[in-house]
Amino acid sequence: MVRIDKEYIQNLLSEAKGADDAQITGILDKAERLAGLSHKEIAALLVSENPTHLARIFAIAGQIKKHIYGNRIVMFAPLYVSDYCVNKCTYCSYNCAHTFGRRKLTLPEVREEVKHLEQMGHKRIALEAGEHDAECPLDYILDCIRTIYDMKFENGAIRRVNVNIAATTVDNYRRLQEAGIGTYILFQETYDKDIYEKVHTAGPKKDFAYHLTAFDRAMEGGIDDVGAGVLFGLADPYFEVMSLMLHNEHLEARFGAGFHTISMPRLCPADGMDMKAFPNLVDDDTFEKIAAIIRLAVPFTGMILSTRENRAMREKLLTVGVSQLSAGSSTEVGGYAKRAMHKEAMPQFRVTDERTAPEIISELLDSGYLPSFCTACYRSGRTGDRFMALAKSGQIKNVCLPNALMTLAEYAMDYGDDAFREKAHKAIDTSIKGIGNEKVQTQTRTNVDKIISGGGRDFYL
Ligand code: SF4
Ligand code: SF4
Repeated sequence: MVRIDKEYIQNLLSEAKGADDAQITGILDKAERLAGLSHKEIAALLVSENPTHLARIFAIAGQIKKHIYGNRIVMFAPLYVSDYCVNKCTYCSYNCAHTFGRRKLTLPEVREEVKHLEQMGHKRIALEAGEHDAECPLDYILDCIRTIYDMKFENGAIRRVNVNIAATTVDNYRRLQEAGIGTYILFQETYDKDIYEKVHTAGPKKDFAYHLTAFDRAMEGGIDDVGAGVLFGLADPYFEVMSLMLHNEHLEARFGAGFHTISMPRLCPADGMDMKAFPNLVDDDTFEKIAAIIRLAVPFTGMILSTRENRAMREKLLTVGVSQLSAGSSTEVGGYAKRAMHKEAMPQFRVTDERTAPEIISELLDSGYLPSFCTACYRSGRTGDRFMALAKSGQIKNVCLPNALMTLAEYAMDYGDDAFREKAHKAIDTSIKGIGNEKVQTQTRTNVDKIISGGGRDFYL
């Protein structure tokens, strides 16, 4: 079982302050070779305040990002299906002590929301729900997943449903796996047990050990890909990073694959909570440093950023490691349909990046990134240790880039205007030459041409 020993971590962080230049240089050299880092090595980087080391941390994070992820950014959006919740998390507006008109989507409403998401061009969504066995049982979640996968549009379908629901049993995880979910996402929120118990004042989520062992049960239930995260701002951020890494090491040792993704949410204002009640808020510089160190530590783990962060921060973090972004997000049940009717939002938390999906996607392209709508690995059975083996061999980019280009071509044709198409085609023409394997390059060109001429869709490697 994963064990988070606070004293052990705090001792490591305090001893790490004694690391000399040669030790840190050795750690950074290792990171530069894409070898990943152990939690002990990470401790030394976290506590280092030497500007020369810090500059090298950022430089290597940028190199790793470029080498493994190129200029591709995988796009997704959340879909909130129910805000019923039995928990009292002090940082969340869905906290059961808050009074507001709660709801869950009917299946026709799920279809309506998915229609709006599809119209934005999304192919990958994260299904989100509060914890409430009576109002939102697993059967309902499974119905939602089936409903989403059953929907086919003129321009395709939602091809991957990642799921972010409360910690549950091995049997329930097995049922989620059988429903064909992509990644199972669960944020630990904080690994500091004392703070965990303070901010989760009531409800099943209060059980720290049950929450902490959820990924073990998920993997026992057959789920290959799990996505972790902490809510930065609840506890000491260095302690959280160390704990994330220990958790990852535990899963690698026990199941042969650690986190598929790490999300980077930072505490932000929500209705019914007071930011002043949280003394561990993380400033921008520390947040950036943490993101870069995570990139060094687990080079093959996707890093996800949501619309909690403003545009400037999102752009900064893209350069040091973030590889997946949400766009056009609503963090409210029924929020996409509501937005289409220009009704006032009542979100779970306030989004800071309020640009529309087309604006974000177009601006990414202008900044030299390739927005990708790829969902290929999950559909080709490249999950868990199979995914990690391909990623670590360096071969993954030979499928990521062609898939990014083919899905971008689809997006441009199906959702872009003339101006967007022109710049997307230009970016595709340039980037296609970067595909190392000649056969794959030719295949990608043929498929992109078919997409542009209306001769086919949904090609992937
Ligand atoms: Fe419920 Fe999740 Fe919000 Fe906690 S964070 S109150 S479990 S929806
Ligand atoms: Fe992700 Fe796999 Fe697609 Fe690459 S090929 S972007 S790893 S789904």
